[in-house]
Amino acid sequence: MKYADLVQLYESLENTSKRLGKIALIGAFLRKTPVEQLEQVVLLLQGLVFPKHAEQKIGIAERSVIKALGVASGKSMEAIEQQWKKIGDLGEVAKSVIQKKSQSTLFSSHLTVHKVLTNLCELAELEGAGTVDKKISLITELLSAATGAEAKYIIRTLLEDLRIGVKEGVLRDAIVAAYFPDQQKEHVAVVQDAYDKTNDFGKVAQLAAEGKISSLKGISIQPFHPVKVMLFIKANDIPDAFAQVGKPAAFEFKYDGFRLQCHKSGSKVRLFTRRLEDVTRQFPDVVQFVQDHVRAKSAILDSEAVGYDAVTKQYLPFQSISQRIKRKYGIEGMVKQYPIEVNVFDILEYEGKSLLNEPFIERRNLLKKIVHEKPKQIILAKQIVTGSVQEAEQFFKESLHAGEEGVMAKNLQGIYKPGSRVGYGIKIKAEAETLDLVIVGAEWGTGKRAAWLSSFTLACRSGEKFLEIGKVGTGIKEKEEEEGVTFPQLTRLLRPLMGEEKGKEVLIRPRIVIEVGFEEIQKSPTYSSGYALRFPRLLRIRDDKGIHDASELKYVERLYRQQKR
Ligand code: AMP
Repeated sequence: MKYADLVQLYESLENTSKRLGKIALIGAFLRKTPVEQLEQVVLLLQGLVFPKHAEQKIGIAERSVIKALGVASGKSMEAIEQQWKKIGDLGEVAKSVIQKKSQSTLFSSHLTVHKVLTNLCELAELEGAGTVDKKISLITELLSAATGAEAKYIIRTLLEDLRIGVKEGVLRDAIVAAYFPDQQKEHVAVVQDAYDKTNDFGKVAQLAAEGKISSLKGISIQPFHPVKVMLFIKANDIPDAFAQVGKPAAFEFKYDGFRLQCHKSGSKVRLFTRRLEDVTRQFPDVVQFVQDHVRAKSAILDSEAVGYDAVTKQYLPFQSISQRIKRKYGIEGMVKQYPIEVNVFDILEYEGKSLLNEPFIERRNLLKKIVHEKPKQIILAKQIVTGSVQEAEQFFKESLHAGEEGVMAKNLQGIYKPGSRVGYGIKIKAEAETLDLVIVGAEWGTGKRAAWLSSFTLACRSGEKFLEIGKVGTGIKEKEEEEGVTFPQLTRLLRPLMGEEKGKEVLIRPRIVIEVGFEEIQKSPTYSSGYALRFPRLLRIRDDKGIHDASELKYVERLYRQQKR
């Protein structure tokens, strides 16, 4: 397949804001895609080069991309950087500089989907000395063979920012529209379920293309293919939680760490975050704990990794260990400096059998059998089963005294529903409500803060849109040595995401989610959400959340109503 065909689809998708329009476009395209190319096309449509569960990452710096653009277009890096600053999208810059070049040489592209994907995949394989130059030459090769429009999407794919608005739901519905046009309604749930279990639309599309609804239904989970995590809803208090999960229920400590899905098969272990990113390399300690203390040939565990102080052994809040998630180098030092304990709370697969449809109480019983607890390495989440409000409240206090966030209440008969926010598990937290907001803008500081971004514009989510809800400059430290988030750290994090600048104000591409505390939510005409936060303060960077996990406007509205009551 010619890459130009896919690019034409990208362009149509970018020009169509309507969801149904996008579904129809993708559906028609999939239908004419040969089955053996589906996997590649579906990957590229999601802006991916590797399936989500793969270990490889493209790992390319914006500087290298600019260099390659320079070589392919004959322009200086400075000129490209300047244009980038003005437009804020390297993809558009690529289009303009490559277009000019190819117009002058009467050029037509012969790039295929296969060639583009092969070169992009090769980027991830490169290691060792001279890597940067080799990467640049792989990109240059593609750009030199590309038209302007092709260059635009090659660059955006490289930078993992495709911007064509194809979210999971759209792709799912397009697969249904392409292969089950007559039974759309019934099949949406089947395709969604297959995706939640495999996290792999390529595979799902292939089965759908073969028309095998029974194979889609029969898709099972397996080690090393991350499964979307089940999500939980909130309750205000214990009676409210009982009302939702029934009596008696299981109550567990709600640990303040980060979610880890641990996969084991034979002696191999792989670890995935809540966003299903592979973090095996970052956590050799956890790999060892699972190898040593989980008695199973094959298993998938759901757990919370919690940090503790290497010296005092006291548990630490999430923020103090969050840096381990992204850290690629000096891992051994990290393991010593920021040790963690794994708190296992669920099991999804055991010895080749899916447990998703087993009642929670059975899954927990199995965990007791196969996890050999070793404190400060791997333990089971502390749990009681009770129907008494008083006992549950006592347990809640115990959890807070132990420095945890609150408790989880779980339905004893509940199944494990990947990717869903179902009522089988309920969280009850003690602290005031917080919001997870996306940084969409910032302002350069003045005086001694002149080198840093010092005020950050925040947005909540409404579907695909980000609506502003205020600015935050509090809760952020100046010196790197101080504990917590610092201005230099945020500036470094946001610099590659900077777009158009107007005076001191900078637009920021929505990528970074932070948790924000506040005194009160107020109605406000100033911000596009219609709300503003009184005394907002940054609590932490939510490395574990993507922009689609950000708090929704609906949630803000609910908090506003609750607080009025
Ligand atoms: P939240 O991040 O506030 O939405 O709370 C849900 C998260 O709590 C889950 O995604 C887990 O990472 C974490 N958690 C901590 N302890 C438990 C537990 N015992 N059971 C389930 N989730 C837990």
